[in-house]
Amino acid sequence: MKKLGFGLMRLPLQEAGDPKKIDQETLNRMTDRFLAEGFTYFDTAYPYHQGMSERAVKKALTDRYPRESFLLADKMPLYCTEGMEDYERVFQEQLEKTGAGYFDYYLLHAMSRERYEKHEALGLFEFARKLKAEGKVRHIGFSFHDTPEVLDRILREHPEMEFVQLQINYLDWDAENVQSRRCYETARAYGKDIIVMEPVKGGYLASLPEKAAELFRKADPDLSPASWAVRFAASLPGVIMVLSGMSTPEQMEDNLSYMKDFRPLTEEEQELIRRAETCIEESIAIPCTGCRYCADGCPEHIAIPELFALYNMRCRFGSFPSQASEYRELTGEKSGHGKPEDCIACRQCEGQCPQHIEIVDWLKKIAADFQQES
Ligand code: SF4
Ligand code: SF4
Repeated sequence: MKKLGFGLMRLPLQEAGDPKKIDQETLNRMTDRFLAEGFTYFDTAYPYHQGMSERAVKKALTDRYPRESFLLADKMPLYCTEGMEDYERVFQEQLEKTGAGYFDYYLLHAMSRERYEKHEALGLFEFARKLKAEGKVRHIGFSFHDTPEVLDRILREHPEMEFVQLQINYLDWDAENVQSRRCYETARAYGKDIIVMEPVKGGYLASLPEKAAELFRKADPDLSPASWAVRFAASLPGVIMVLSGMSTPEQMEDNLSYMKDFRPLTEEEQELIRRAETCIEESIAIPCTGCRYCADGCPEHIAIPELFALYNMRCRFGSFPSQASEYRELTGEKSGHGKPEDCIACRQCEGQCPQHIEIVDWLKKIAADFQQES
């Protein structure tokens, strides 16, 4: 199985800004190219493109190719299901929308501790086992966004899970807020296959600070910055698939060029990535590691590390529309967090911070920057 999977969550659009209007003709052409080069894995999910990704799969893939010529992954949404009746209804809907007949890989989507505890009690794992026993899905697993400790618990309590989908990229590898490495090592300790999501960190590692980009260019002028990120993930033992959300034929051509005859990173190339990573980190404005020592004692419940991560991304990669909504999610009424301007300068957080960050001043700056926009 070739290690590049076609992630169907950022598909080409007819109209920018309307995720429901997928450019089906371009998607069909991309699907043809992908399969023609010997790649077979497609990954969709219930909420992608507001429910239209699963329908687009039918038009691009299942209506046009023999079922055994490709592998299709789909996912059970956990944010909108409340038990067996919902699981059954959603699964039937997914079969109908995709026209797939069965799914090769079926994931419990975006598992976290809260969702695990809730859905485990509602019988979700029993439902997944039943699907497999009935031949409606070939392999069962879950995508995961939480700590290695939670991952360890789920894998210990559910040995029937065959694979795990993890967020792995070279910038998050040792980041304390994502803990890619420790999650990867946990999955490996249980001997699970690993599928990688976000290898290019949502596109961020495709456009690097000049110093890092220059390092890669010198090593091989023909390789794109994204290729180094995808190859980093694909080179890890136990990784069976790396997903890339391809939006244009050009992105696909770039990915196909270096994944067609995949060559794992050499020792020198690994070292180069570590140097590039240092350059990227040096360009980061606030040296927050995401350890969260500051967060628990804040009387205003301000999401300090999350706001710092968001601000760093903005300094490093420029302003993206998604940042404003992420900011609202972190500071809005429903978030349970205070706004940065709610800070009363008690400085308990600064006393806890091992990086000696001037948190109060940075929060003022963040509040001013984001308020300007809204
Ligand atoms: S100084 Fe501000 S951010 Fe820090 S703990 Fe006090 S209120 Fe929270
Ligand atoms: S204590 Fe410092 S380094 Fe840790 S999350 Fe808070 S601001 Fe970041």
